Amino acid sequence: SELSQYNYANSPDILTNEELEKLAKATDGGPIKRPSDGKVVRSVAFVQNVGQNSTEKGQLPYHSGIGDLIAIKQAMYFKELNGDCDTTILFDNLRTPGAPGEDFYRSGQEKMVTFSKGRVTEVVPGPTLQVKFKDLILNDNASMECDLVVLDVGMMPNTGPDPYAQLAVEEAEDEAEKEKARALLANAPPSILNLDYRQGTDLPLLKYGFTDSHFICFPYETRRTGIYAAGPQRRPMDMRQAADDAAGAAMKAIQAAENAGRGMAAHPRAGDLSFPSFRKEGCTQCKRCTVECPFGAINEDEKRYPMFNESRCRRCGTCMGACPVRVISFENYSIDTVGQQIKNVEVPEEFEEKPRILVLACENDAYPALDQAGMNGVEINPWARVIPVRCLGSVSLSWVTDSLNSGYDGIVLLGCSKGDDYQCHFVRGSAMAHERMSKVGDTLKTLNLEPERVKVYEVAITDIERAPKLINDMAETVKQIGLSPFKF
Ligand code: SF4
Ligand code: SF4
Repeated sequence: SELSQYNYANSPDILTNEELEKLAKATDGGPIKRPSDGKVVRSVAFVQNVGQNSTEKGQLPYHSGIGDLIAIKQAMYFKELNGDCDTTILFDNLRTPGAPGEDFYRSGQEKMVTFSKGRVTEVVPGPTLQVKFKDLILNDNASMECDLVVLDVGMMPNTGPDPYAQLAVEEAEDEAEKEKARALLANAPPSILNLDYRQGTDLPLLKYGFTDSHFICFPYETRRTGIYAAGPQRRPMDMRQAADDAAGAAMKAIQAAENAGRGMAAHPRAGDLSFPSFRKEGCTQCKRCTVECPFGAINEDEKRYPMFNESRCRRCGTCMGACPVRVISFENYSIDTVGQQIKNVEVPEEFEEKPRILVLACENDAYPALDQAGMNGVEINPWARVIPVRCLGSVSLSWVTDSLNSGYDGIVLLGCSKGDDYQCHFVRGSAMAHERMSKVGDTLKTLNLEPERVKVYEVAITDIERAPKLINDMAETVKQIGLSPFKF
């Protein structure tokens, strides 16, 4: 009803592009006929970008990107099957993505498909359909008559309920957000996968309902280890792209199955043989690890102690960073191993008047950016000592507190970007770390230290100039506010 101007519900000759595909297939090589009276179609109008890229209720907030390619392809059906049928594509912005897109557009022109830059205002039903539009070249109102109208309505993923929909209600920052999250929860579709996860039955989703995955480095890897998404489940795409996508996802699945057979982590720490374990005697059953694990790899036993599922675990260490009593560790990565590295850095005495800055850098993006900076000869202040961490999510608040107590003058935490367009290789690790570190202010207050002594930044692998600058900025800050009083 929000698209009532197109009168889709009021004429069988006004179709979506998906319905036209079925209609064309049913002709079995013969001409395409009108659904209303079976007459051979002699003129057709394709109305592009219907209800997409829109802020209106009930419409898609994104553009599917491939609707114009589909329209060109379908216009050619009429040229091939219906002889001299008039085909007009009415568009406001024509998008033909991909290397062959431009050629495809030209082949449409060669076959005499008409491309008209116009925004459709109304489709009037009747024995002959009337399409009213604003001609965007002449800046004038215009109309055309045709036998059939095809609407480019965009693509939506076929998904089950978002397992974190309940969490979104609990974490909403204000009443409006909460209301939105409640509505999503109330209208959740039935489960498709019926997964046995404490966090819910289906795959975690991105904001528009597509499967959540790291869009640059791990596009196929969903947040449920061993399940790979491909095709329009991931993002809108055509059949050819979906076939290539499926091949990529299948390769990833084979790689993960082989690694799992050897007891190794899947991605991104492919080949890692370590896995998290916890000291039961110290555990307070607080559930922080279970809640913060981005991959749902932790369940609870009947006594509410955490139960780690190694084949689901990606070895990010977020649970380790989250545990308030520091009882989670890996054989080769623990609160103690990093704590020892921090302790083993020589912190100059006060009479040496030489500050020391601790940098905890995510091994996935921030550390390689600093490494590249070093190779490029970008200067990094010599006061800094850099320790790589698996993910900023694995950083324990205790490392920060202990460092400040032992006389470090500044601490810089470098992780990947968080939020809707996150680049964290462990999806939520960076966001969790930011949340955790927002409490570092209390620690600084207790120690009577300046808040500027601890900074958390989002860094990309390409930040080869910026990452060193953030460290150098901390050095400047320390110069201004002076050495840590904990040296004295
Ligand atoms: S290491 Fe990461 S994936 Fe594994 S259980 Fe801990 S938080 Fe979950
Ligand atoms: S976070 Fe630590 S204390 Fe809390 S349940 Fe997990 S292991 Fe136990």
